[in-house]
Amino acid sequence: MPRIHAVIPAAGSSTRMGNGAPKQFTRIGGRTLLERTLQPLCDEARIARILVVLAPGAELPAPLDCGARIEIEPIGGGCRAESVRNGLRRLAQSESKHDFVLVHDAARPCLGSDELARLIDLAGGDDVGGLLAQPVGDTIKRSGDGRVAQTVDRSGLWRAATPQMFRLGILAAALEACEDLTAVTDESAAIERLGLRPLLVAGEATNFKVTTPADWALAEAILRMQKRW
Ligand code: C5P
Repeated sequence: MPRIHAVIPAAGSSTRMGNGAPKQFTRIGGRTLLERTLQPLCDEARIARILVVLAPGAELPAPLDCGARIEIEPIGGGCRAESVRNGLRRLAQSESKHDFVLVHDAARPCLGSDELARLIDLAGGDDVGGLLAQPVGDTIKRSGDGRVAQTVDRSGLWRAATPQMFRLGILAAALEACEDLTAVTDESAAIERLGLRPLLVAGEATNFKVTTPADWALAEAILRMQKRW
């Protein structure tokens, strides 16, 4: 039976947060954003190993308080995809290429247990793998010089989230084949470059990425609603 592992890229510097501190170590309701993000993964018994990729030299403000299966590796790269690739290299040293890997942003603290279980059920049973995503509900504009240049047809558009779940061997090979990792903003994009078509698994709008200062209050409200506060 293939096993399931998780890689959490957490080596970002949070430039859009604007306060200089890496957001993954900022506390939200007494626990770091990273701990909040890890909790649903720790609660999912089907996940064997959880590898957190930190920036070289980064240190946790305190030991993580969310489970024994977590490993911390200060092997982050210059962009998200490089951090993920380094995490996969580490896993591939000891795990089978047939195992699955879930990649999940450290900055998504409100992932629901149900949507995580659904992704594992559906992507784990798919030949390619898949990702949590949501159909776009808003009208989408392309800008030019601060004005609307075009209204984009939103039919068929989805917003990609994480976790994204693929076979360890395929995802590692897909990222190793990318010459410019900065252009690869999620795992699906690397898989697509192999000519494969990942499965879109409908997820919740609440699984958003904390990016700007205003997002903290939203994350708190969602965590309270989920009774995880
Ligand atoms: O920058 P962005 O919000 O897209 O980052 C998404 C995730 O990738 C975050 O969890 C961040 O910590 C991580 N990241 C990383 N290594 C980088 C840049 C971002 O692990 N060099």
